[in-house]
Amino acid sequence: MKIYIDGKFCSERDAKVSVFDHGLLYGDGIFEGIRAYNGRVFKLKEHIDRLFYSAKALLLNIPMSHEEIMRATVETCRKNNLRDGYIRLVVTRGKGSLGLNPNRCGRPSVIIIADKIQLYPPALYAKGMAIVTVPTVRNLHSAVNPAIKSLNYLNNILAKIEANNAGVEEAIMLNAEGYVAECTGDNIFLVKGKQLLTPPLSAGALYGITRATVIELAEQSGLKVSEPNLTRYDVFNADECFLTGTGAELIPVTKVDGRVIGTGKPGPITRKLVGEYHALTQVSGEPIYK
Ligand code: PMP
Repeated sequence: MKIYIDGKFCSERDAKVSVFDHGLLYGDGIFEGIRAYNGRVFKLKEHIDRLFYSAKALLLNIPMSHEEIMRATVETCRKNNLRDGYIRLVVTRGKGSLGLNPNRCGRPSVIIIADKIQLYPPALYAKGMAIVTVPTVRNLHSAVNPAIKSLNYLNNILAKIEANNAGVEEAIMLNAEGYVAECTGDNIFLVKGKQLLTPPLSAGALYGITRATVIELAEQSGLKVSEPNLTRYDVFNADECFLTGTGAELIPVTKVDGRVIGTGKPGPITRKLVGEYHALTQVSGEPIYK
């Protein structure tokens, strides 16, 4: 495997960062998870735009332009002969001192890894997943804003541990007001009648790229999409529920906190959107091999 670090490609064995990098010492940095399908990088521009928005929120100066990072991402896929896979793009604050002052750090480091993706077990895509609500609430906007895809993912990791302890793969995180925010690594959608519902981003969610794509697909097929505040009651009484994420794609949810959702099987609207999403991934994106 060839890994991109600061303009050079190195082997996995040589791909190292300093122990003084503030990405390691303080979680001071940002990342993106991107997919390649059928020889194309899916929604590359959207991911790079979001990376720059996260950087702006942290006053982190990425030492490359949008175009340069897009080119480096495609080049990393090419160097690894990747046609289908998962790309992890990381920008750390860079090497600094043991104090937390980011002004003492030199140049931010840009790392790109192109590898395979580990999805949820295939059986869960077919029969739907059981999830739970966990006690750890989503970060406040006024603390570490959940819109920032930062290297400090402990809020989500704590929730993931609680999900694991409950014997499930994913969990609903509520915000401090008790409204549904999102899951630990996925956004959440409900179907009620002919309506598709998803929490507003202001409820405390990542501005999911799969979320935006699904909203577009749903609107194209005439579904009404709205973004109201949602409670657990709304989730329990939905006809269908599914999660979205670059890694997860669309995965049906059939049980939440012991309540069976809808018929207990992946519903027709979920299945239709899954099909449309997969079709789109096969034909759109930035070509890796020109
Ligand atoms: N929420 C969180 C907390 C995430 O980490 C992710 C990405 N894995 C998502 C939602 C989904 O976002 P996207 O569709 O852009 O991958």
